[in-house]
Amino acid sequence: MSAKNVVILGSTGSIGINTLKVISRFPEQFRVVGLTAYNNLELLKDQVRKFKPKYLAVRHDGINYFRNNRLFEQLNVLDVDEGLDELVSSSSVDIVVIGMRGSSAIKPFLAAVKAGKTVAPANKEALVVAGRMIMQEAKKAKAMIIPVDSEQSAIFQCLEGRNHAELDKVYLTASGGRLYNVSASKFDTLSVAEILKHPRWKMGKKITVDSATLMNKGFEVIEAVRLFGLNPDQIEVLIHPEAIIHSMVGFKDGSIIAQLGVTDMRLPIQYALTYPKRLSTGLKELDFFKLAKLTFKKPDVKKFPALDLAFYAIKKDGTLPCVLNAADEVAVEAFLERRLAFSKIVKVVEKVLTKHRCIANPSLNDILETDAWAREETEKLIR
Ligand code: MG
Repeated sequence: MSAKNVVILGSTGSIGINTLKVISRFPEQFRVVGLTAYNNLELLKDQVRKFKPKYLAVRHDGINYFRNNRLFEQLNVLDVDEGLDELVSSSSVDIVVIGMRGSSAIKPFLAAVKAGKTVAPANKEALVVAGRMIMQEAKKAKAMIIPVDSEQSAIFQCLEGRNHAELDKVYLTASGGRLYNVSASKFDTLSVAEILKHPRWKMGKKITVDSATLMNKGFEVIEAVRLFGLNPDQIEVLIHPEAIIHSMVGFKDGSIIAQLGVTDMRLPIQYALTYPKRLSTGLKELDFFKLAKLTFKKPDVKKFPALDLAFYAIKKDGTLPCVLNAADEVAVEAFLERRLAFSKIVKVVEKVLTKHRCIANPSLNDILETDAWAREETEKLIR
């Protein structure tokens, strides 16, 4: 079998770094053809030296550095703000791993599926905001989408080879985030740094805050609706602090299939890359005797209203998921900059949602306009 050619959007973030770790284990099976990064030029230089991609997309400072360095003469250097669509649809690309954050992933995601590439998204925003469009285009071009997010990967694995019409319910598990055992009245007494300590997964700041509000799980509900063509009522969120069951699927006959594993992103990343094959990951085995027990709780939606907001947004659909995403991004950023109290994040998002006049079946343009509107409204409210 010839090697699969991989592009990694966001190679210096945690998904990108882990993807490169996986690829390093199988140098014969994968070739890195493209890397892109917005930040961390130093790490990117190391990655380019080690993996020798054909393409690179960076910001201006990086463009100058790589274009003017004779060591990188063979490298095609693109502008990260403009060149991603071209990069992902290049004929030499087989798999596109989307590790980059934010709604800027929408366009390259669409370009990749339109070009019929296999896409392994870890990015949530694109599927939340433009999921319907992305799935439609993927179907048209017969592009595969193999999710990298641990919960979506679990659902994907549980559904593999089965008739989707036999699916009854999806149990989406949540570790509960940093604040699950903290009373709501204490939320605002915690510092930003304290909230950024996630008990189970090591992730970026935005997603760690979203885990603490449970908005992250809300986004995953929307993502699952899109990826697997579910009705929102088919999804039940379970708080499962051990984070060993990454999600489960219930079938019509009452059987439930779960995917379990150690909490390490390399597992779903590798599965997306090697699909449908399974290869050794070299990770620690799951030790059932050390685990002793797995527990489940109903989410406390009074304390964490974000989850209900997400269900509300996806049930109404149209541009509401877009507003949810944009308002949350601005509110979380304000929290990280200490301009907004933690307890206000979801309140602000709710206000913007109620103010929005929903557009059913939005075009990409409607989505981009709604996104800009929601960001401005949120910023106004915060001020
Ligand atoms: Mg997740």
